[in-house]
Amino acid sequence: NENILDLSVDKTYLAVLEGGTAAIAVNMSTTGAATAGDLVWSSSDEAVATVDDSGNVTGVKAGKCDITVSVKGNDAIAQTVLVTVRHLEQKDGCTYVDGILIVNKSYGLPESYDPGLDATTKAAFEQMKADAEKEGLNLYIGSDFRDYAYQVKIYNNYNDLYGWEMADTFSARPGYSEHQTGLTIDCNTIDDAFGETEEAKWLAAHCADYGFIIRFPDGKENITGYQYEPWHIRYVGVDTAKEIMSQGLTLEEYLGVKSEYAGAWEG
Ligand SMILES: [Zn+2]
Repeated sequence: NENILDLSVDKTYLAVLEGGTAAIAVNMSTTGAATAGDLVWSSSDEAVATVDDSGNVTGVKAGKCDITVSVKGNDAIAQTVLVTVRHLEQKDGCTYVDGILIVNKSYGLPESYDPGLDATTKAAFEQMKADAEKEGLNLYIGSDFRDYAYQVKIYNNYNDLYGWEMADTFSARPGYSEHQTGLTIDCNTIDDAFGETEEAKWLAAHCADYGFIIRFPDGKENITGYQYEPWHIRYVGVDTAKEIMSQGLTLEEYLGVKSEYAGAWEG
């Protein structure tokens, strides 16, 4: 179709689980009539991921491949998305995706999971705090590990005050709090005003250098399931953190998982 002048895609990075699906949306710039039927989709490795005529990608086996969309009869107009297919594994009630422990609204922890604050996470925070201090900034732990029983109290309190539908937007149900992993720290004051401080700006710019990500970024509420929390950081290791933060991803996007409760809160 000679009416199609250019193509753009809605993402440059896409992760899906083995057996999972996700869509790539295309925008065509045209000088006349054109339809999705004028496009050709292909995978560089169908043993890793396949793609249908509408840009729906299905993960087959853990690995990486390129998904390319081009104009039928004109390969010169094309866009490529790097697709990572990831492996999900459940062990002792915990869920790992490519070895990364995931806790969100879709994946919980057993009541008995009680590791305390992870030693590597604590050391990384202390190094970060020391470096921030050299720039005259004061980072400190507002909250770190919280066990299941403590989260019961927190969530029940918000549920009583606001109802579960509202509580779900900013507080985790027991067993679904990332604080129970021991890999999460809330910095300084747990308050929206923290986002305006020099400490918060420095944290967003530098936390990946120490292995942390801003877990619930602004504008990604529909993906993480939580309001923006500039204070809540999650340890994932330096390489992973840099990849996530430099591309403006959430952990859900990076791992190719959803964050949705199975149903209403039934206390
Ligand atoms: Zn938090």
